[in-house]
Amino acid sequence: MKDCIFCKIVKKEIPADIVYASDRIIAFPDINPVAPVHILVIPTRHIASMNDLSSDDYDLIGEMVAVAVELAKKKKIAENGYKLLIRTGADGGQEVSHIHLHLIGGAPLYEDIHPA
Ligand code: 5GP
Ligand code: ZN
Repeated sequence: MKDCIFCKIVKKEIPADIVYASDRIIAFPDINPVAPVHILVIPTRHIASMNDLSSDDYDLIGEMVAVAVELAKKKKIAENGYKLLIRTGADGGQEVSHIHLHLIGGAPLYEDIHPA
């Protein structure tokens, strides 16, 4: 979609260090990492949010999760653990309206679910 940052990354109009690519999915580091490993896994097709998925797309989300797990293993953070996150809509804090799965790890990340 025109004016979508992540579609522009798919079309290579905006540079990104692509760490995984298939016809359906690409992955690249977040420009503003919150942890030592912070990778975004996205569908190459523009889908604005989880609310826009059709039932045919659920295998695509499964594939995105599988790619994230493989990248976690490749980055050697799998054993210590990591976080997978898909924000949706305003209350979910979604800033880019193209579905993206955050793979975040390489440091302890439990403070948000286990507040002091
Ligand atoms: P959201 O808040 O929508 O879940 O996450 C959007 C993420 O995209 C943010 O973590 C932000 O740092 C990242 N981001 C925004 N623009 C770019 C960009 O042009 N390149 C890359 N690599 N990441 C981006
Ligand atoms: Zn897009």
